[in-house]
Amino acid sequence: MTDTASDRPIPVTDLHAQRRRLGDGIEGALRRVLEHGRFLAGPEIEELESRLASRAGADHAIACASGTDALMMALLALGARPGDSVLVPGFTFVATAEAVALIGATPVFLDVRANDFNMDPAAIAAGVAAAKEAGLRPVGVIAVDLFGHPADYAAIEPAAEEHGLWLVCDAAQSYGACRDGRKAGSIGAIATTSFYPSKPLGCYGDGGAVMTGDGVLAEAMLELRDHGRSAATGMHARVGLTGRIDTFQAAVLLEKLAVFDEEVEMRGRVAERYREMIGRDVGDAVAPAAHDGTVSTWAQYTVRLPADRRDAVQGRMAQAGVSTAVHYRTPLHRQPAYSGYPVAGGSLPVAEALAETVLSLPMHAYLPEGDQERVVAAMAAAMAEEAQR
Ligand SMILES: *Cc1c(COP(=O)(O)O)cnc(C)c1O
Repeated sequence: MTDTASDRPIPVTDLHAQRRRLGDGIEGALRRVLEHGRFLAGPEIEELESRLASRAGADHAIACASGTDALMMALLALGARPGDSVLVPGFTFVATAEAVALIGATPVFLDVRANDFNMDPAAIAAGVAAAKEAGLRPVGVIAVDLFGHPADYAAIEPAAEEHGLWLVCDAAQSYGACRDGRKAGSIGAIATTSFYPSKPLGCYGDGGAVMTGDGVLAEAMLELRDHGRSAATGMHARVGLTGRIDTFQAAVLLEKLAVFDEEVEMRGRVAERYREMIGRDVGDAVAPAAHDGTVSTWAQYTVRLPADRRDAVQGRMAQAGVSTAVHYRTPLHRQPAYSGYPVAGGSLPVAEALAETVLSLPMHAYLPEGDQERVVAAMAAAMAEEAQR
């Protein structure tokens, strides 16, 4: 049954709809963990890891405490250290750059492309130059599949290779996505993901995972997850993290994986309908386009509006009961903690423009069609009212 009363608030995401569907299954799974009592190394974790790996087409998956810990484990396993620089997009969630800075390496910010919000492969050469100019060794690239849409790996991979850089894919928003037949999680030396509750595959707390096809890196990350302790010797072979996931979260994720493929399709249908309706009714909004051959997880459905109307339109939509979000209002190279790091080419005009124009609409698998219509109608009305001012 769908409740489409015209004044009911529409949130950006709604975990309750999924919770109602999964109901008893999740409670049973949590109760089993309470009973066996293995809260940190329960059997659910290995089962989750094998399901995550096989679904993504990766040889190894290691679940961990968060998407940020996943990035740190990946960077440490790859040997990144002070004096090294890692190229990251300037338009992403802060954790992509934060992990680099936390391990003592230096993030170098690259511009993105407006059509898919992802790293511009053509900026890699400028990133390498900016790193060298700052006296740093460029060692790797972290590409992000922003909003669930895989980055342009067909162009990023050869550019990274040309400069001798390893590639990590930050698939925090894109587990379940694919591009040209390649699944997020199977691309790069290591891919990372996050199970933060509002991600397309989210748990009920913090969680994350790393995936790789390289057995040596997998072994290193297993050790890093647990204070660097070697399973073979019991000795602390490296400096590691408290990176473990708890068994409750693995139990929740196993229940959610049972409906995840269907949910990705449902999100895709919401995105298609949005695109149709926006194309027809909101002439001066740019709807996001999925590149041909791409399955996005639509972690966000992010339109671009004229910069001079974006904030006012968001305010008017809120008055009509439609919540929206701005991901991201400030590009990373303009954030106080990150403004001192090198910027490829000296400025990031596309990232800066996106920060002023993007607006993310309500998006989740269970968004009723009536709500989708209300969202677009509210945006169309707000755009028209603001155009007349
Ligand atoms: C959410 C997110 C992360 C971090 O994940 P946490 O689980 O919150 O630590 C990293 N990168 C991107 C792009 C994200 O969206």
